[in-house]
Amino acid sequence: MKIVFATNNPNKLEEAQELLPFFNVVGLKDIGCNEDIDETENTLEGNAILKAKFVKEKFSVNCFSDDTGLEVEALEGAPGVYSARYAGETANADKNMNKLLDALKNKTNRKAQFRTVIALIFGEELFTFEGVCKGKILENRVGEKGFGYDPVFVPDGFSETFAEMSMEEKGIISHRGKAIKKLVSFLLTIRY
Ligand code: IMP
Repeated sequence: MKIVFATNNPNKLEEAQELLPFFNVVGLKDIGCNEDIDETENTLEGNAILKAKFVKEKFSVNCFSDDTGLEVEALEGAPGVYSARYAGETANADKNMNKLLDALKNKTNRKAQFRTVIALIFGEELFTFEGVCKGKILENRVGEKGFGYDPVFVPDGFSETFAEMSMEEKGIISHRGKAIKKLVSFLLTIRY
């Protein structure tokens, strides 16, 4: 059975396909959707639902979408839903990390969590799944792998940053990995 993942990120598509071997997971380009879906809501849930609804309404297919944010305790949950654009419209991972490290200068509370929300529209019903990975923000970058805030985030129970872990290691404990596993369990119960 075909299911659309409302993303054009090839890494996310590959990861989802590996976890959902009994589905044919396709991306936005595969269904001829070439427009960027603007994330205009102010919550992760809102944005995930917005993207899934857009695809369902326009293409009448079962689909899921995700939205992730880094929530820092000492910054009252920022950058949160604005994680991708924390340093402004021209932001990139480097600028975002600089802004984060600056904002946390001299702060002793370094607790943070990544949170992913997946919205699934299956038939006419909407379901959401959440994955959380708790950890802390370092004072400097460590590691070369991964993306986004990975070089400054150390998950609880580990001494390495996400940027020092392989994709497989990170996938087992990560926010997105956990949310996808919940989605997979749910889809298995629907199918069988
Ligand atoms: P998205 O919703 O997956 O596009 O994530 C939004 C932003 O959160 C990204 O642009 C990254 O800055 C950050 N982010 C999401 N997932 C991760 C992760 O696994 N590691 C580091 N940063 C992440």
